[in-house]
Amino acid sequence: MTKQQTNNPLILSTWSFAPVGADAAMPLLLAGGEALDAAIGAVTVIEDDPTIHSVGVGGLPDAEGRVSLDACVMENPDRCGAVCNVQRHPNPAAIARRVMDTTIHITLAGDEADDFATREGFVERALLTPDAQREWQTWRHDPSNINREKYQGWLPPMNVEEMDSKVGAPGGVFAGDGPDGSHDTVGVLVLDTHGKIAGACSTSGMAFKVPGRVGDSPIIGQGLYVDQTAGAACATGTGELISGVCGSFLVVELMRRGASPLEAIRETLQRIIDRFTLVQDHQVAMLAMTPTGDWASCAIRPGFHHTVTTSEGSKVEDPHGVMLPE
Ligand code: ASP
Repeated sequence: MTKQQTNNPLILSTWSFAPVGADAAMPLLLAGGEALDAAIGAVTVIEDDPTIHSVGVGGLPDAEGRVSLDACVMENPDRCGAVCNVQRHPNPAAIARRVMDTTIHITLAGDEADDFATREGFVERALLTPDAQREWQTWRHDPSNINREKYQGWLPPMNVEEMDSKVGAPGGVFAGDGPDGSHDTVGVLVLDTHGKIAGACSTSGMAFKVPGRVGDSPIIGQGLYVDQTAGAACATGTGELISGVCGSFLVVELMRRGASPLEAIRETLQRIIDRFTLVQDHQVAMLAMTPTGDWASCAIRPGFHHTVTTSEGSKVEDPHGVMLPE
C-alpha cells in the first residue's frame, strides 16, 4: 500500500494503456482542477483512441458485430451518473456526467441514452473500426475460442460471405493485458489538490457479448463507487463476478469500517473466489483509494497492471497482490 500527500494530485488507472489518458489529465490537476474533471478527461482520451480495443471507439463489438459502450462517473452517493449500451457516441463517461448534471436520474440506457447525448450536443460517430470488425469476423469464423456455452440457444446463424464482404483495412491494435485481451475496462480514481476524490469507469464490455448485456462497469457500486467520507474503488475483469458481490461498494464499505485499501480489495476478491466457481479466463482486478490518498491494487490472477500517475509522470506497475498466483 502506498501513502500519498493530500495536496499532491494522484491518478490511479486500470491497465497499462492508461498513461495516454492519465498524462493528459494530470496538468489539469496540477493547475488546481477538480478530480471529476480529471477522471473524465483521462477516460475520454482513452475512449477516443481506436487502438485500444476495450474502451470507446475501436472497442470490440457484441456477438452481432455492434459496439456498445457503458460508463459511469461518481463523486459521492448524490453525485453520480451512468449510461449503458450507447451505440452512436464515443464518449460515454462524459455523457454519464451530463446525465448526473442535468437530469434527476442516475442511469440512462440504450437508444434513449444516445438520443439524450445527441440532444445535449454530443457528436455521433461510428464506433466499429476495421480492426475491431476483423477481430469479430475472426471470432465468428471460430467461435470455439471463447466460452460458446453462454450463447447456446441464442447465437444467430453465421453468414460468412456477408461478413467477409465487410472486412476493413488493417491497423494497430492494443494488446490487452487480460487473459485473452477480450475485455479491459478503464477505471480511474483521482485525488485532486483540494483533497477531493472522484472516479470514472468506461468500457465496451466483454468482447462478443450477447447483445444487450450490461456488465459491472456502468453500475454504481459494481464497476465504481466513491464516497468522500470513506474512499473510492473501481474494478475490471469479468463483470458478472464483480456484479455478484457489488465489488466496488463492498471495497469502500470495508474501508469505511477500518480496512486498509489492500485488505478491503483482498476480502472482496476472496468473496468472489468463495462464492463463484471460477474458470481459467475469469479475472477481476480492483483499485482502491482512501479519502487521503492511501491506495492499493490487487487482482485474482496474474496479468493485471495498474498505472499510477503523479506530477512526475506515469508508471505502469504490478498490483500489490495477486490472490491466485500460478
Ligand atoms: N468489467 C467489464 C465488463 O464485464 C470488462 C472488463 O473490465 O474487462 O463489461
